Amino acid sequence: MFNPDLRFQRFTDITPAALEKLGVRGLLVDIDNTISYFKGERLFDGVQKTLNDLSQSGVSIIIFSNGKFERIQKFMKDNALNYTFIAPALKPLTFKLGATKKLGLKKGEIAVVGDQVFTDMAFGVFCGVKKIYIEPTLLETGRFFKFKRAMEKIIKKGWKGVK
Ligand SMILES: [Mg+2]
Repeated sequence: MFNPDLRFQRFTDITPAALEKLGVRGLLVDIDNTISYFKGERLFDGVQKTLNDLSQSGVSIIIFSNGKFERIQKFMKDNALNYTFIAPALKPLTFKLGATKKLGLKKGEIAVVGDQVFTDMAFGVFCGVKKIYIEPTLLETGRFFKFKRAMEKIIKKGWKGVK
């Protein structure tokens, strides 16, 4: 269920070649636990370079976070990220799907990238875009998140076929 098309340990493992092989030319990129720590203020090492490399290879990038607008706006500015951002993206709901229209691409050419099964991967399923899963860097604390991650673990057991 919610099987990703590609699965990586880190965001920086994504290469232009991997996206080309998947036929993807646009990315909707999650922030927390994907390109930064949960509620982090700084990008992980190497993320800026990966974004540049992908961008230069012709891949369009939209930062697509469920975080609050003010926080994400500050994050973009503090990290010198010059990409369109959508926040809150309301994943897994599809209200903000309009953002993908900006890319001028077909759904099959777009992938959502994120660390959560029930938000990022579910969004991909509901919208019919491709899905790239990044293993979460640091598990969140709190009972709700612990429950959600435990449920994810069960789902992820069924992903053995995913490369
Ligand atoms: Mg996340």
